[in-house]
This record gives sequence, C-alpha cells and structure tokens, in this order.
Amino acid sequence: MMPGEATPRCWSCGTMGAVQFCSACGKVQPPVPVDYFVFFGFPRKLNLDTAALEKEFYALSRRLHPDVFGQADDRERAWSLEQSSMLNDAYRTLKDPIKRTEYLLRLEGIELEEQSKQATEKARATGELKKQVVPPDLLEEVFELNMHLEELRVQKKMGEDDPALLEEIGKAKLSLEEKYDTLLNELKAEWNKWDKAVDGGTEDNGDEVTGGGSSTRWSTY
Ligand SMILES: [Zn+2]
Repeated sequence: MMPGEATPRCWSCGTMGAVQFCSACGKVQPPVPVDYFVFFGFPRKLNLDTAALEKEFYALSRRLHPDVFGQADDRERAWSLEQSSMLNDAYRTLKDPIKRTEYLLRLEGIELEEQSKQATEKARATGELKKQVVPPDLLEEVFELNMHLEELRVQKKMGEDDPALLEEIGKAKLSLEEKYDTLLNELKAEWNKWDKAVDGGTEDNGDEVTGGGSSTRWSTY
C-alpha cells in the first residue's frame, strides 16, 4: 500500500490515520471518497468475513454516535454525521452477498448488461427485447405468490381463515428459499474463482488498500 494514499493527514495533528478517525489523536476525520472496502479496511474481494464486518460496524457506530460529539465543534459534529451515513451505506452494501458482488463488479468497471441504461435505451429505440433480468418462470411464481398474499390479506380483514391458502404460501416460500440457496452457492463458487485470480494476479500487493486514485475509480461512491 502506498502510505497515505487512502487517507489524507489528520486535520488536527497531521498523522496519517484510518478513514474515520486519526490513529494518533483519535479525532474524527472529514469523509474522503474511498470505496466501501477501503472504508472498512477490507481487501477488495468477494469472500468477506461478515462477522468481522458486523463487529467493525458496531464499533464504528458507537464511536460515531451523535452523543459522543455533544461537546465537539460544529465541523467535527458534521463530519461524524457524514461518516455515520457512509458507514451505514457501506455496511448495507457489503453485508449483502448480492449487493456486494454488484458493487465490486461496478468498482472494477463491469456493469451488468441487464442493468445498464444503455441496454435499456437500445431496447427502447430498436424495439428489441432486452435480456431478461429475471427468468420468466420465476416471475410467474412471484406473481402467483403475490396474488395469494393479497387473497390472504383480504381474508384476514374479513376474519376468515383458509388453511389451504396458508399451505400454498408456505410451499411457495420453501421453493423460493431453495432456489435462493442454490443460486447463492453457485455465486459463491464464482467468488472463489474471482478471489483466487485477484490473489494470483497481484502477488506483490495482494493486501493493498487502494485509495485516492483516479476520479472514475470512485464514481460509484
Ligand atoms: Zn490526529
């Protein structure tokens, strides 16, 4: 890691510190545009220690809590709020396996075709069908489930109870959970391939924490 690339000098004592707090004097720092992996000090990989992430999240939440800054000056109070909001965004994104995968791919400049604006506009202009994000049979299953849930809501309002409907919904839930687990396992196999390639490709700076690079690098921040 290039020293000081990820974080500028502490505004108060001049030491290089962590993203949120100076490592020497402990003062909260003005937010810097770093990606969420750098924000938490994790390597940019798809496999992530979510227990460590959660621990770090709660520790930072406590340190950034408004109560702590009751006596601080206005700047520090404002920075702590901004850091807090970035903390929440970073945590929400990284803890979720799918959000994390999409986020990392975007950082690497890979946009999923289904989600690209360009593909949507092209489909609109040419009348061609865009590649489907969700398989049609899954869409149908979800549609049916929504109808059953609506039915259930109506019944509840009228104080009725239909065990057959409940069973139907329970079955649908199980089926969707199974599908999710299967897909998540497939995704995890891909994570391992990606992370292995990352390790192999950057042997000399495998644990580099990148920061302060070109502006495009942080376009998703
Ligand atoms: Zn300091």
